[in-house]
Amino acid sequence: MIFIKTVVLDAFDAKKDIENIRLAAEVIKNGGLVAFPTETVYGLGANALDESAVKEIFVAKGRPQDNPLIVHVDSIEMMMPLVCGFDKRAKALADAFWPGPLTIIMKRSERVPNVVSAGLETLAIRLPSDEIARALITEAGLPIAAPSANLSGSPSPTCAQHVVKDLSVRVEMILNSHSCSVGVESTVISLVGEKPRLLRPGFVTVEELESVLGEIEIDKAVFNSIANDAVVNAPGMKYKHYAPKAPVKILKGSFEAFKEYLEKNKCDGMVAMCFSGEGCELSVPFIEFGAEDNSKEQATRLFDALRQVDEMSAKIVYARCPNQNGVGLAVTNRLFKAAGFEVIKL
Ligand code: AMP
Ligand code: MG
Repeated sequence: MIFIKTVVLDAFDAKKDIENIRLAAEVIKNGGLVAFPTETVYGLGANALDESAVKEIFVAKGRPQDNPLIVHVDSIEMMMPLVCGFDKRAKALADAFWPGPLTIIMKRSERVPNVVSAGLETLAIRLPSDEIARALITEAGLPIAAPSANLSGSPSPTCAQHVVKDLSVRVEMILNSHSCSVGVESTVISLVGEKPRLLRPGFVTVEELESVLGEIEIDKAVFNSIANDAVVNAPGMKYKHYAPKAPVKILKGSFEAFKEYLEKNKCDGMVAMCFSGEGCELSVPFIEFGAEDNSKEQATRLFDALRQVDEMSAKIVYARCPNQNGVGLAVTNRLFKAAGFEVIKL
């Protein structure tokens, strides 16, 4: 569906801006789409129980039909009818990390339309901590299915401007609010198998999950993206190149080696993605995405940095390789995806 105009309403404060949040909730209740802030990235929401509304999400984003959505709730009570088997492990995770940037995959109940989880028998559920997101869900009185509010293929949106750029005239309403404090999408853990399995790293780290659940398995898709880092020209074509228009290559090694590599290979349209304080030592245009030893800051800034290199008309982007500890695993995973897993060892 194309809208003549997307309505953009301020929602910076859940109390002061409640009238605008209520208008957004009305859109959701009427089967429309609303983009809204969460602590991870902006989400594009629809009533999770309304099959045709959920289908519109896939259309607006150009999202492949086989990529399931996360359902956002404001309470365990709202979640209960949507899943089967909220077991001890799920409860322990919810107690430890909800509200917050953790998505838990459980068995789906029949109340949730197939289309939400792309036909899978499972359902991804999250109780966000963001006050605006929670107020929207509460005012709608409905679970809200919401993937990231970007066009499929581009970096996830971490501020309202990113959403406006990607989704204007494609959605009915955008809530204009704060930038996202976490900046990468939620950690996704599946409790469907015998052992808990990490499907996507995020702000809630492996160590934190293991402190609650004991040992967890890391899905091959996460692990491979990291372990393959020695491979140059890895089969990036297989993966969605969800980043800038220019190819991104990760240079793994010291800053000295990075500088040297850029000098040797200098060309028109080269842009460097580097850590804070490094840019002034380079002789090419650059974007800094946080301090080298601060993975949380890198998480907050990464997606915006990936969008900025487009605005700089980059033809080729060389990025510093983040460390992989804690939240660094999520940063590394997203940057490697953006690079189609192209890593050059210096
Ligand atoms: P996004 O909302 O754009 O962050 O994407 C949601 C992520 O959660 C995607 O990586 C999905 O593949 C994943 N996801 C959602 N539901 C399920 C499910 N039932 N089983 C496995 N992964 C899921
Ligand atoms: Mg997404």
